[in-house]
Amino acid sequence: MSSSGFASQNGAGATYANGPSQNPVALYPTNQGYMAPPQPGYLNAMPTKEPTPPAPSCYNPSRQQPSPVTMYQQPLSLPASPNHRPALVPPAHTPPLANSFYQHPQQPPSWPPPAVNQASPAPSPAPPQPYNTGTSTPPVFQNTMQSPAPVPPYSSLNNAYMTAPALNVVAPHTHQSFGPPQAALRGTLPPSGPPPPPLATRSDGPYSVQPGAMNRPMGTAYPSLQTAYQSVPAPQKPSPMQPAAQPYSTAAPQQYQQPSVSAAQLSPSLAALNLQSQMPEALRVVNLLQERNLLPPGAVTPPTPCLPQDLQRLNCSPEVFRCTLTSIPQTQSLLNKAKLPLGLLLHPFKDLSQLPVVTSSTIVRCRSCRTYINPFVSFLDQRRWKCNLCYRVNDVPEEFMYNPVSRSYGEPHKRPEVQNATIEFIAPSEYMLRPPQPAVYLFILDVSHNAVETGYLDVVCQSLLDNLNSLPGDTRTKIGFITFDSTIHFYNLQEGLSQPQMLIVSDIEDVFLPTPDSLLVNLNECKELVQDLLRSLPQMFSKTMETQSALGPALQGAFKLLSPTGGRVSVFQTQLPAVGTGSLKPREEPSQRAASKDVQHLSPATDFYKKLALDCSGHQIAVDLFLLSAQYCDLASLGCISRYSAGSVYYYPSYHSHHNPSQTERFQKDLKRYLTRKIGFEAVMRIRCTKGLSIHTFHGNFFVRSTDLLSLPNVNPDAGFAVQMSIEENLLDMQVVSFQAALLYTSSKGERRIRVHTLCLPVVSSLSDIFAGADVQAITALLASMAVDRSVSASLSDARDALTNAAIDSLTSYCTSVLTIQQPGLLAPACLRLFPLYILALLKHKAFCTGTSTRLDERVFAMCQLKYQPLAYLMLMVHPALYRMDNLTDEGALNINERTIPQPRVLQLSVEKLSRDGAFLMDHGIALYLWIGRNCNPSFLTQVLGVQSYVALPQNMKQLPELDTAESSRIRAFIDWLREQRPFYPILHIIRDESELKAEFMQNMIEDRTESALSYYEFLLHLQQQVSK
Ligand SMILES: [Zn+2]
Repeated sequence: MSSSGFASQNGAGATYANGPSQNPVALYPTNQGYMAPPQPGYLNAMPTKEPTPPAPSCYNPSRQQPSPVTMYQQPLSLPASPNHRPALVPPAHTPPLANSFYQHPQQPPSWPPPAVNQASPAPSPAPPQPYNTGTSTPPVFQNTMQSPAPVPPYSSLNNAYMTAPALNVVAPHTHQSFGPPQAALRGTLPPSGPPPPPLATRSDGPYSVQPGAMNRPMGTAYPSLQTAYQSVPAPQKPSPMQPAAQPYSTAAPQQYQQPSVSAAQLSPSLAALNLQSQMPEALRVVNLLQERNLLPPGAVTPPTPCLPQDLQRLNCSPEVFRCTLTSIPQTQSLLNKAKLPLGLLLHPFKDLSQLPVVTSSTIVRCRSCRTYINPFVSFLDQRRWKCNLCYRVNDVPEEFMYNPVSRSYGEPHKRPEVQNATIEFIAPSEYMLRPPQPAVYLFILDVSHNAVETGYLDVVCQSLLDNLNSLPGDTRTKIGFITFDSTIHFYNLQEGLSQPQMLIVSDIEDVFLPTPDSLLVNLNECKELVQDLLRSLPQMFSKTMETQSALGPALQGAFKLLSPTGGRVSVFQTQLPAVGTGSLKPREEPSQRAASKDVQHLSPATDFYKKLALDCSGHQIAVDLFLLSAQYCDLASLGCISRYSAGSVYYYPSYHSHHNPSQTERFQKDLKRYLTRKIGFEAVMRIRCTKGLSIHTFHGNFFVRSTDLLSLPNVNPDAGFAVQMSIEENLLDMQVVSFQAALLYTSSKGERRIRVHTLCLPVVSSLSDIFAGADVQAITALLASMAVDRSVSASLSDARDALTNAAIDSLTSYCTSVLTIQQPGLLAPACLRLFPLYILALLKHKAFCTGTSTRLDERVFAMCQLKYQPLAYLMLMVHPALYRMDNLTDEGALNINERTIPQPRVLQLSVEKLSRDGAFLMDHGIALYLWIGRNCNPSFLTQVLGVQSYVALPQNMKQLPELDTAESSRIRAFIDWLREQRPFYPILHIIRDESELKAEFMQNMIEDRTESALSYYEFLLHLQQQVSK
């Protein structure tokens, strides 16, 4: 189990034997997987596999009708050694199926599932009803008191594959040939070079996943009922977190009427759902090789789950809770066939403009599985409700009969808990293990010569001085400081002292707290001393000659100081820690930065930081790391302190206050956000899902305390999480399933609160429905996290191959099992048309690229970001948005608060889209680049940039002047609007042709060929080759 920890839920890191147990079933030896000898237990159940070459037989273009049964029997090879096909799921047992990618070893007993086996192999030509949402059982999803409308046995299992007539092949929109980009800008094309390294080729090497068994808490005591509803904040309307509009315009008005069903028998919404006649836009067939313009004009919006309107209206916002598949497959084998990953993307503590908050002495939960009552439970009558996760029937407590919003009695289904998929409870005392602790902030500052020389200390101290009164907290808030070089310095800030007292501990082998009671002080009472300290710190060390860094001992001191209360530690580090415990050695070989294959040292050099992080986690301490350095700092090792303690990592390569002003500006903006954003302490997050579904791997920064419980000493509104799921029991009788994330935390004001998000999704029985509900961005984000794990546990090239194979596999599955009319080209359903582009973007992302010089710390940081950023920001970092700026108009503009915000079209990331007479803005999430062409329109220069000519444009311009022209207001309104969309502040860089940043701008031209990577078109050709094999 040497590196088994890498496959564990927390991602990379050596197995830590000392801490609480990680989900043990998620630990895999990496030397086992597709190459491992088959396990006899499995082989019995499996169809015969013949070691034939991979496989012209996978795909038979002449076959008109996919046969779900024969698919299992296609002769496929076990991979030969060097030519294996890695998958992103952790290697585990012998693959149960040949040609499977997302495989589940524990096949349900009924495997192959009846739904698939009984399906007519030939698609029925008759009823074109792509949205076959379920079986003939009555709906379970009414949440009103109305008796359920009877639903006729409308969609039979035999229609599981009834996609044939619906799938018309649509002629491409544009006939523009899609060749290699032509250079619109001579000299700006990436240099041509030797052919890029070969990509993964198709050889079959499936993996399997063994998810952890669900371990739900059962039957804890139900709180006794209270009679009165105590207090409730002003009634709030359901927050406006309606899911975004359907991304692609829905199908044309229905032409097909189902004669056997009277629409009157169905509730109106259900009728609309089931009678939707033609193929949805999501399944429109797109030939990627021909259709050139795949990007929507604006942002890519998530698909809307195909639910009855009254349910969907109540559903959780996709900004908070998303699933890679908005239609959940009925069985694991169906999921395996789709070759798409199943998982959830969460942004649970996102800043929300409206959040219903409920104070109640009784929080209504399922007695069996502890699910919080939510909009997707069903009320059997006024006194009983049925849990939507475990189906237990529960009593409605007396108190719940009163509706505080309408101030009426007897309407439990109208309570805010049943009307809001996102809600927050103020928790009564049984949700506390100890009295809520105060907000505690400890700052650890590197004051070695190197650190002081960068000038960062002034920025931190000034930012703290500016924001001291905005730190979240109340009158109990505590604060403390530690500085360190080769020794550790504590600061006595006790009230009554005339000035701060510095206490030096030079015994770094055994750090002790010199005056344990006066190092963390009440911020209100000791504010002046704190301010004194912050004003004098930068000078105190300005002449220091100490070059060493004892980070490990400083962290141990911090742990001792905070362990009674918990709290937040903010560490500022500028070099490789070289003395004391936790010291590290340089591991990066600069000559290897541009390695074309594998990258070493992505895993930590020591388990010291992980162990300490787990100790911190156990004492409710989170450690946030700010790394500011020009040199290698071994972020792969240091980052563990934040990852396992649920902290955040910030990285500013080449930071220098004077020499690198743009980094300094970003650092200042980040600090302001960091110091003032909301924070939750002593948090845990539990994710529950409907019986039959199982969660098995988590991504993000946390520690997994039990199979579905994440320990989060701190939670902040900028953290994202992802989980992978599998289907353990067939969902045959279910029309919908639900997922619930409950985040229990202590607010900075000392309140215990629970934020609950519930997502409801339909269950489907056909592959075409699964594809129709695929959320390409969520899929990309989940695959990115899986690929980070794979890079560390196996190798970078494995991860890259697995990413490519994810695209090949799903498109192959689509072509062989969903499409009924074969045609040349690379075919994808419209909802996945951006999938190959996003995969290519990941392959060119700093985390996974090869062949271009990438510093190890920058690569590791990019990987941290992929696992930590919420989906919306992550996607901009992977695939930035490009806009033309010199011809903005008000046509189609948004109007928000009397401001007109132009909406320019999103352009493809290719130099072909640039022109020298224009100006182009690239939104990279954390940064904005405005590239000005050399022959840029003179009126743009004068009206927007305030200069007479291109030559007069200053280098390193960071702001647009506020000119009184229509052009200037338009572009500033647009940039302000982009910035308002996110909690951090992206810096604007105005780039001239000679600017150093131009390379960064051009690197994001993902569709173009580079020395070491394929162009988008070449990548498509590669995929096509593999798909048609
Ligand atoms: Zn339940």
